[in-house]
Amino acid sequence: MDSATSFVAGYDTKPYDREYLSAAARIGGLHLRFHEFRLEASTAFSTEGAKSVCVFVNDDMRRSTLEALVRHGVRMVALRCAGFNNVDIEAAKELEIAVSRVPSYSPHAVAEHTIALILTLNRKTHRAFNRVRELNFSLNGLVGFDLHGKTAGLIGTGKIGRIAAQILRGFGMRVLAFDPFPNSEWALQNGVDYVDTETIFKQSDIVSLHAPLTPETDHIIGTDSIAMMKPGVMVVNVSRGRLVHTKALIEGLKSGHIGGVALDVYEEEEGVFFEDLSGEVLQDDELARLLSFPNVLITAHQAFLTHEALSEISRVTVENLRRFASGQPFLEGTAV
Ligand code: NAD
Repeated sequence: MDSATSFVAGYDTKPYDREYLSAAARIGGLHLRFHEFRLEASTAFSTEGAKSVCVFVNDDMRRSTLEALVRHGVRMVALRCAGFNNVDIEAAKELEIAVSRVPSYSPHAVAEHTIALILTLNRKTHRAFNRVRELNFSLNGLVGFDLHGKTAGLIGTGKIGRIAAQILRGFGMRVLAFDPFPNSEWALQNGVDYVDTETIFKQSDIVSLHAPLTPETDHIIGTDSIAMMKPGVMVVNVSRGRLVHTKALIEGLKSGHIGGVALDVYEEEEGVFFEDLSGEVLQDDELARLLSFPNVLITAHQAFLTHEALSEISRVTVENLRRFASGQPFLEGTAV
């Protein structure tokens, strides 16, 4: 592998990306040049000298960007994430640009974050932490409920949903689940009951989303589904923002019908999540409203953020970049 083919430009990189990608690149013998800004048609000039680029969920890989990349000699796009909805795959094929992704890194990271959100929201540890630091040792308003004996309803029992279900069963919860492709053997082994979504909405104390964004799951949590839910229900979304209709959620919170909301993803997260906007005026009124509720807990798409997940994302990404540079096929199941 010569130095020209081993040079890679990385975009939208944060300190943690650079740390983990650099460590993997050292082992893989790659030279990475990192940029903090995103890759789009107008920034494609910055790939100069690179044969490959490494991008994330918000880099804009539409046709015009891909055409600009080809003009600059780029032949491969390595996505350091699972989703590839930001890439015009058709155009990439036409332009003969190879595209790789990381379909699975650590489902445990995401499932465990789901549980962290549920426990925090229920037992109000985020509020207790702030109170105690202010020497306010009062317990008023911090009453939670036992998870034991309550019902959790999971939408989606793929890699993440199954792990979350098993942990919730460990708390002694009854777990209901819906998935168009149910895994009956797993459900039997783990004491999980597959039901329809209506039953989930009507019977669950906690509704947690673990399905991809599809036409069927788009706004699956909206006015109608919320109306079916038990008063005081907790709604958790660590999946994709558009599974939840934010306006309907806010109405459910304002009326008191929804007892708590935990979100790691948000419909309009692009340009907000992953950024430090602490010195700016928040322009998103719905996000501002959500942040005003004492019973809403939001993290900024960090469920994947563990040492193990970042290591695996970097390992697979760098290995594919290395393979491409030396004319080998991508790792199995990672070509887009
Ligand atoms: P997966 O592909 O293993 O599982 C998804 C499951 O959803 C499958 O079993 C599928 O049959 C099911 N499903 C499809 N359509 C459905 C529907 N209409 N109703 C109910 N279930 C349906 O995926 P995964 O790795 O478990 O990921 C689940 C979700 O988590 C994905 O949307 C992914 O984008 C999201 N995710 C979030 C983060 C984060 O950091 N917040 C990280 C990774 C993944």
